[in-house]
Amino acid sequence: MRYLENEPLAPYTSWRIGGPARFFAQVTSVSEIVQALAWANQRDLAVFVLGGGSNILIRDTGFDGLVLRIRLQNVRLEVNGDEARAMVESGAPMAGTARRLARQGWAGLEWAEGLPGTIGGALHGNAGCYGGDIATSLERAWVLVHGETQEWPVERLAFGYRTSVLKQMRADGGSWRNQPIILAAAFRLYRDDLTTLAQRMERTSHERRSKTPWGASCGSVFKNPPGDSAGRLIEAAGLKGTRIGNAEIAVRHANYIINLGGASSDDVLRLIDLARERVLAMTGIELELEIQIVG
Ligand SMILES: Cc1cc2nc3c(=O)[nH]c(=O)nc-3n(C[C@H](O)[C@H](O)[C@H](O)COP(=O)(O)OP(=O)(O)OC[C@H]3O[C@@H](n4cnc5c(N)ncnc54)[C@H](O)[C@@H]3O)c2cc1C
Repeated sequence: MRYLENEPLAPYTSWRIGGPARFFAQVTSVSEIVQALAWANQRDLAVFVLGGGSNILIRDTGFDGLVLRIRLQNVRLEVNGDEARAMVESGAPMAGTARRLARQGWAGLEWAEGLPGTIGGALHGNAGCYGGDIATSLERAWVLVHGETQEWPVERLAFGYRTSVLKQMRADGGSWRNQPIILAAAFRLYRDDLTTLAQRMERTSHERRSKTPWGASCGSVFKNPPGDSAGRLIEAAGLKGTRIGNAEIAVRHANYIINLGGASSDDVLRLIDLARERVLAMTGIELELEIQIVG
């Protein structure tokens, strides 16, 4: 195990923003995770679990603890006639896994085509798009809790719109120490025609490409309020194209903030505050963050 000191975190995020981690380690097995957690405990360090870094904003001051980048990536299939169960480790890419399974004729995760990030990050935030989400595709997960691997049925993850029990723990101010770590997930799949599957994936990919603004981002910054869309509200508040420093509220989709190059987390946080203030003043609606702020 290598523990890097003062490792810049921006390159590990889709926003390309954020200061350094005091310590940083990449882990490729459960035993390495356990070892790294013990190492952090001995030094009384906070721990942040990093997946693909596509749903977080790391502050310019970085993270004063150990950042653990999850790189476990094995995929195993249990086939039973025309049905299958895919056991996927949490560091595997969500979209890459969906594509790989579809190429073998297994349907169930096509909605995730083009979704950035890892299986672990997707479970943490109940990622979803194009008619599917983790909550409806997942059968169970394996989670490391206080050094012990537990098998959790889907109900235990208490999924809601872009949230889970794990994300809620963090939102409630949960400790950066001893947080549960997702190790693997089991998804239900069914056999489908290869051509039909490829066409479905291509349609999703095309739709995603046509809607996603260019540039480094974190996807949607805010959750959609009930019955409305955060992007529509921010656009109605006249904020499309607004820039602070090197960050910009995207012209193509107002719920995206783009790093135009060299943006600081402070630039993004000020745009977040501005969008919240204007939308609140205009509609009385309080926008809730979908992304997580780290550090
Ligand atoms: C261009 C773009 C488009 C996007 N489109 C969508 C979309 O359509 N739908 C959608 O839902 N999201 C979308 N997102 C957001 C993002 O892709 C998802 O939220 C993704 O699932 C995050 O996964 P990640 O691995 O990058 O998580 P990270 O950003 O690394 O982490 C997010 C959270 O998950 C936690 N976490 C990560 N791995 C684990 C683990 N193994 N155990 C415990 N906790 C863990 C982290 O600690 C953190 O709290 C988009 C992002 C971008 C950049």
